Amino acid sequence: MRDDSRACNQYHRYISFIETLTMLEYTSRAFIGPSLLALALGGILGTAAAEDMGQSSTGLEAGVDAQVRPGDDFFGYANGSWLQATPVPPGKKSWSARDEINERVSQQMQALLDEVWTNPQGTVARKVADFRAAYLNDRAIAAQGLRPLKPLLNHIARVRDKAALTALLGQTLRADADPVNRGQYNSAHVLGLAAESSIRGEKNYTAILVQGGLSLPGREHYLSADAGMQALRARYRKAVSAVLAQLDPAHAASAAARADAVIALETALAQSHAADEVSDNERNANNLWTRADFARQAPGMDWPGFFKAAGLARQASFVAWQPSALTGLAVLVDTQPVQVWQDYLRVRAICAYAEVLPASFAALAPALRGAAAGEMPVQAVQRANAVTQSVMREYIGRLYVERYFPAAQKARLNTIVDNVVAAFGRRVEAAPWLSPASKTVALAKLKVLYFGMAYPEKWQDHEALVISPTNPVANLQHLADRHYRQTLDRLGKPIDSKQWVAAPQQAGGLLMFQQNAYNFTAALLQAPKFDAQMSDAMTYGAIGAIVGHEVSHFVDTLGAEYDSDGRLRRWWTPEDMSGYATASEALERQFSSYRPYPEVAVDGKKTTVENVADLGGLAAAFDAYRASLKDMGREVDYVRQQDRQFFIGYARSWRIKSTEEALRTQLTKDNHAPERYRVAAVRNLDAWYEAFDVRPGDRLYLDPENRLRIW
Ligand SMILES: [Zn+2]
Repeated sequence: MRDDSRACNQYHRYISFIETLTMLEYTSRAFIGPSLLALALGGILGTAAAEDMGQSSTGLEAGVDAQVRPGDDFFGYANGSWLQATPVPPGKKSWSARDEINERVSQQMQALLDEVWTNPQGTVARKVADFRAAYLNDRAIAAQGLRPLKPLLNHIARVRDKAALTALLGQTLRADADPVNRGQYNSAHVLGLAAESSIRGEKNYTAILVQGGLSLPGREHYLSADAGMQALRARYRKAVSAVLAQLDPAHAASAAARADAVIALETALAQSHAADEVSDNERNANNLWTRADFARQAPGMDWPGFFKAAGLARQASFVAWQPSALTGLAVLVDTQPVQVWQDYLRVRAICAYAEVLPASFAALAPALRGAAAGEMPVQAVQRANAVTQSVMREYIGRLYVERYFPAAQKARLNTIVDNVVAAFGRRVEAAPWLSPASKTVALAKLKVLYFGMAYPEKWQDHEALVISPTNPVANLQHLADRHYRQTLDRLGKPIDSKQWVAAPQQAGGLLMFQQNAYNFTAALLQAPKFDAQMSDAMTYGAIGAIVGHEVSHFVDTLGAEYDSDGRLRRWWTPEDMSGYATASEALERQFSSYRPYPEVAVDGKKTTVENVADLGGLAAAFDAYRASLKDMGREVDYVRQQDRQFFIGYARSWRIKSTEEALRTQLTKDNHAPERYRVAAVRNLDAWYEAFDVRPGDRLYLDPENRLRIW
């Protein structure tokens, strides 16, 4: 059971990860002006029209190569001129819209961060600017010395007994974890708190505790006998000793011995920690501990005192994500001298803020974080940008969207999403291989699914956010405190599936089975994939098909693990499984017939789940787009023109130029078929034949009875 569940979970994680990559890989092309006209006029595109597209006023290269017959190679037809005009840049193995978008997003973020300081006091933009300015304010940092950390250091100094130690550990608990949605299962503090939807179908947010408290990046950094790790530990030991000597110059002689004791404590903590492959498993959410369980399974620590100090006095139960870490922590609190804990907490305090402390501490930061000798230090400005983008992400998201994403497009995309989800639902109802009971669950899932487009429905309030332009330590503490209070506040409240986890300024898509939600970010919704000028038909082809693909996962063999309450409960029956297997066999064969190289074929079996999602997503997007034509759907010529846009939009959404090396790697490692073959899914839709006059003898031609439908 355990092994099965882990394998299953790892598969999910893998899919989620690949999903993100996929999201970034798909692209779409905007037809504008003359090129749209040329297409709308129908017929085979002439060279002149193709050139027009290449010289479009937005600077986007056109894609179509009229020399290629669409029925022979639809990917090459729709993207041919782009493929000819686009080199794979030196040092890269492939070049896709994902790369273009990533590059643009980083330029957008740079421009945004460079200009926010011009905003008036009190605005969220100015707060972002002040945060970054404080981080780089070397003069203020030097002038303040350790003063900003004094309250914490004094508190540590006042700890005289285990009760005070436990209370301090509780008071410094923070919500710096997100094990379910983002795989963050290690905290900077001895424990980390998260309020999330778990896997047991609760209607309210669950309190989750994760392990933490290590300065070096991971457990193995303390335990591995590897020579590199040993060298890194030697550097770390020196740095810890230097920290203790600087904090307490009068006792500098004993600093090395005290450092050894601190590292021994951290090593013992590391020993109690779960390894990553154990932590990276949603089923850890099944480890529900009541208050009594803490006393029983983690004796040695005053847990009621800890929880009271943490503001969790009324919390009756917690998910113990890594039970061994709780047990281990309690033992160490019980057995290690208070003085060792005090030194440990001093080192942790310095380590947490080292980069924004005076130079003598800042210089130790790389070694304290476990950087290897010779590792290039990150430039201060780059680090400031990275930290600002990370800890102020919720506030920056709003600025990013206001500046780069047209608000009217969110409503437009939401309509497209609603229509695609509804169309997918009709396909679920019609699927002959899915049992009636399972159809009911699938439709219930689609009903509660929140498919968030571009950015959250409401923004985080920033009125009470206080950011100093001169005190970076206070800023970091304030943000962490604020986030902790918000997390405490969520506990016990109903789960809000509209709560975004992805940041709109990070290009990607995030699939969350536990809260039946998907976040599709604004950063990803831009050229060459999407823009405000793109026709509805093309948007359905480019974006609608991806929406359909993701919707498919909520009810396919992956989504079959989670019900409409987000509970981990397989609702597909064995008959559904075998029905699905039979229904998808022909699609497996279709993909296995593709041979990029004479000796290599696409692995139709390995890529089935994704190919089924592509086909179902494309078909549902097509249904939804056709329905959106309303009365115009009776105009045969108009429909044909629009259909062409839909299919070209789809083909362009997968535009990529790959080297042979990249393509061969993709064939062996990726669960998705190469883009060229994903695009060939169009050959299963009758309308594609009509739209491009595809006939028997064309390479992609399939007899009507061989055109496949799973959903
Ligand atoms: Zn997928």
